[in-house]
Amino acid sequence: MDVDVFTLFPQWFDWYRGQRHVANALGLGHTLECVDPRATTTLSGGAVDDTPFGGGAGMVLRVDVVEAALRARYGGDPAAPARRVIALTPGGRLLDDGLASELAHEHALTLLCGRYEGFDQRIIEHFCTDEISIGRYVLAGGELAAMVVLDTVLRKLPGALGHAESALEESFSPALEGAPEYPHYTRPADWRGWTVPDVLLSGHHEKIRQWRLEQSRKRA
Ligand code: SAH
Repeated sequence: MDVDVFTLFPQWFDWYRGQRHVANALGLGHTLECVDPRATTTLSGGAVDDTPFGGGAGMVLRVDVVEAALRARYGGDPAAPARRVIALTPGGRLLDDGLASELAHEHALTLLCGRYEGFDQRIIEHFCTDEISIGRYVLAGGELAAMVVLDTVLRKLPGALGHAESALEESFSPALEGAPEYPHYTRPADWRGWTVPDVLLSGHHEKIRQWRLEQSRKRA
């Protein structure tokens, strides 16, 4: 998967790239590159935003600036996107495991990070295929939201977690009927009298499987 993040703060992603599952994914041939719209803006002083029509506080990312950045990166007309282009917005489609799985099947993703008051609406309407929110609250910028989206998408790519199995049976996965995962325990089996459910120590795989499914269902 080739991922491009359009951000005014590309350095935020330097740390992110080094994190294990991200680094694993990159090691497998996936890419994560940042594009800074300031690099292609033709406005004086490297400006990328402007005051909102109609008045009000804050600054709005300009449609011409984002168009220039998309054109420089991909060529062609960004109004006919050839890949999935996602605007990160507080009011967008809420990210969940189903959406993450859907995105994990894409060959290429572009994530647009807003700042300040957000995007000129024409960016979302004409250049984007999706609008995604990571929750009904407001962050200062789209960078953390992009990292959250990528975190859940990249860990679904085969090999990114190290164990092929580990992403299959997890909270909200079809294997657990969309429910949260069952509880886990490890050694010691008894700590201050807090014991581990007997079934987990029984070695009886079918009973363990059943118990886990029941626990998962109870949490749904
Ligand atoms: N004025 C906007 C908020 C802008 S916050 C409003 O009231 O809706 C600045 C940027 O941070 C946004 O453009 C978006 O890219 C990002 N952002 C903030 N909260 C977010 C969330 N919950 N999910 C995804 N992106 C978010």
